[in-house]
Amino acid sequence: NTSVLSITLNPALDLTGQLEQLKIGKVNSITEANLHPAGKGVNVAKVLAELGAKVTVSGFLGLENASAFEHLFESQGINDEFIRVAGTTRTNVKIVEANGEVSDLNFPGFSVDAADIASFEQKLLELCQHHSYVVFAGSLAKGVSPEQLADWIRLAKAQGCTVLVDTSGAALAAAIKAQPSMIKPNQDELEELFQQQFSSVEAIKQACEDLAKQDIQHIVLSRGEQGSLWLHQQQWLQAQPPKMKVVSTVGAGDTFVASFCWGLLQQFNATEQLNFATAMSALAVAQANVGLPAAEELERVLQQTTITQH
Ligand code: ATP
Ligand code: MG
Ligand code: MG
Repeated sequence: NTSVLSITLNPALDLTGQLEQLKIGKVNSITEANLHPAGKGVNVAKVLAELGAKVTVSGFLGLENASAFEHLFESQGINDEFIRVAGTTRTNVKIVEANGEVSDLNFPGFSVDAADIASFEQKLLELCQHHSYVVFAGSLAKGVSPEQLADWIRLAKAQGCTVLVDTSGAALAAAIKAQPSMIKPNQDELEELFQQQFSSVEAIKQACEDLAKQDIQHIVLSRGEQGSLWLHQQQWLQAQPPKMKVVSTVGAGDTFVASFCWGLLQQFNATEQLNFATAMSALAVAQANVGLPAAEELERVLQQTTITQH
């Protein structure tokens, strides 16, 4: 049983607009726009489904604008087990400048109540019995506490699932206490967690080694164009992707998490797995949308990525 359950507690409709350069306090004319269902766990599900994994999605979805999500799941063969809640799923506006820089305007959406939470928990328990990997990705919906997330991670682990978590702030801090198999903070998220700035790779590694003491199997620190650092079984691997022509960095982290999960599923060795996740995520920044690269492109970037042991 190698199916993946990807949980998005706070999905979003992404309205992405491209322009030359964002001018704050001025009229900005968008040259190209696109509206699509997203949220970190939805993006992870999409990449995994395209890679060929059997994927189920759950979490909360606003009743009033669920159809775009339903179309996506149907077209990708993704099993939709989202709990419908009253209200609308939020919209996130992403302004992508010509240099690839992204500014986010995240609007509020639905809130979940105690009954929604109880329905989700029941659903999670059921789904965990039929899935071997569970990914929790993104922020918490209004009404979901960090402690609640930690409990759900414990629930999934108690069902024998391997749990991967990509979140930030108080949710990440709480999630760590539940000891998931994998976390993937970026440097900002790590600094927020430790309430401290890290000015060297050595300082970053020390912080991750402290986290590893809490019994988290895979700690990945992603560093944008500088690749990533992965601590596993007291071994450090460092990945450096080639220089990419950046179109949009939206979804790079999600593609990394999905591809890392695929590597676990396929039982890649550690070097292969990091090489694959790095090449896939590097290619994700070279395209506007979340999706699979052409096979020859992937092959080229896999070759150009370097993995070193530290
Ligand atoms: P997100 O905003 O999607 O959550 P993140 O900040 O969590 O992203 P990043 O560290 O920015 O994650 O990116 C994840 C991975 O994507 C990196 O480790 C790297 O492999 C790849 N990546 C990101 N940006 C670039 C880039 N400019 N060039 C090449 N690869 C990149
Ligand atoms: Mg980033
Ligand atoms: Mg991220």
